[in-house]
Amino acid sequence: MTGHNSSDRHAYHPVLPPLRLTDIRSALDELQLRPTKSLGQNFLHDQNLARTIAAAAVPGHAAFAVEIGPGLGSLTAPLLERCDRLLLIEKDARLAEWLRGKLPADRVEVVHADAIEFDWRPLMAQGPFPLAGNLPYYATSPILRNWLGPCSPVTRAVFAVQDEFAARLAAGPDHADYSALTVRTQRLWTVRRERSLPPSVFFPEPGVDSALVVLERRDAREFPPVRATFFDDLVQRGFSQRRKQLRALLKAPLGLWQEWSAKHGLSPTCRAENLSLAQWIDLARTLDPSAATPAQHDGETFDVVDESDRVVATRPRREVHDGNLLHRAVHILVFNHSGELLLQKRSAWKDREPCKWDSSAAGHLEPGEDYDAGAARETEEELGIRPQLTPIGKIRACSNTGQEFVEVYTAIHDGPFVLPPSEIESAGFFPVETVRAWVANRPGDFAPGFWEVWKLYQAANEH
Ligand code: SAM
Repeated sequence: MTGHNSSDRHAYHPVLPPLRLTDIRSALDELQLRPTKSLGQNFLHDQNLARTIAAAAVPGHAAFAVEIGPGLGSLTAPLLERCDRLLLIEKDARLAEWLRGKLPADRVEVVHADAIEFDWRPLMAQGPFPLAGNLPYYATSPILRNWLGPCSPVTRAVFAVQDEFAARLAAGPDHADYSALTVRTQRLWTVRRERSLPPSVFFPEPGVDSALVVLERRDAREFPPVRATFFDDLVQRGFSQRRKQLRALLKAPLGLWQEWSAKHGLSPTCRAENLSLAQWIDLARTLDPSAATPAQHDGETFDVVDESDRVVATRPRREVHDGNLLHRAVHILVFNHSGELLLQKRSAWKDREPCKWDSSAAGHLEPGEDYDAGAARETEEELGIRPQLTPIGKIRACSNTGQEFVEVYTAIHDGPFVLPPSEIESAGFFPVETVRAWVANRPGDFAPGFWEVWKLYQAANEH
């Protein structure tokens, strides 16, 4: 796909016909296709609603957006009026092929693929984007799981879903619809059930009511940090037997539980559905020992070094950083057995480069510590692993590294990792090709120290 000149952005005249009921029928005839129930094929034939959904997904204008399950293109045409480029993911090969013939190839890429398994990681190089879809109802949960996780590049998701599912996504505490799905989704996303969609706006009419939901990614600092896997497991366990008291389900120590529930004005016999989202987050932070690590310690001291990396003094962290004094750090690049690189997203609570992507693990050396010992300690503290580390080179102190001499190591490990939430917001493995394109297209997504580490890694692997 190529870029589109924004000055003629609204000049697109859809090749797709406006999809009224008769048009849908004739398109299906042309394709000799009967809507497939197992693929959730209920096509939208209300053009006002299609425009409403597109406007909810892209309120202004977007350079790029993704649509899941475009079908015959009811939503695609109004989306294309609001976006320079679109990626469409359609599981039905016949529909994907048909759409390809109807849409401008320089602005729309139609991929024949399953959105449940679609590898969105290469899309990181596009930057954050909105996601839209009139979703096949059988696949709503796994599609959300794939696309709306902690590392996802999606900023806003607008979906037509089964009304019952929308009610569960948007529910509040003390309600029968409030569930593990609600709490896990709402930790990362605000959810609004925008409006209902009657069966009559679809062909064929589904047997259930539908609703439009709008999900917007929360600011990373809206709630204190929690470890995603710990939080999700805790919530899942808490809701596993709704009628059972939460303390018994979580096997929480009595004293701690009484203190915690009193602090929140909750009965010690409360159930999962009685806790607000903020209370769930506080509970996870109370029960997870790794939540206690602060983002940085003000009392830390570092060795200060000269131009030849020889230790000349030991000074407090702030003095070293404020005075741009030369000091030492390690970066570790962890690869899995498929050769993909683990990148971490720095926590929003870090004082330096918050929310930027960075090496798998990195940190300053402690006073008197050498590089190898520092690398082993940081890998264990930040990832909870002790792999064999291989040094691949050293970076001279410079402004990009924050005046750090950096020794870089690689390791191989498939996880799982235990990530301290105050340091790391999330982490994921990315193919090296993806990292290369992502760093080239959007260097600002990364901590500047990582640019230098990446340069060194690429140079080391050229030979
Ligand atoms: N967007 C169109 C509309 O509003 O008329 C079609 C919506 S229809 C409810 C769902 C669409 O998703 C169908 O085109 C179906 O073939 C497609 N689909 C079903 N399962 C899918 C999956 N796992 N991944 C991608 N598309 C899928």
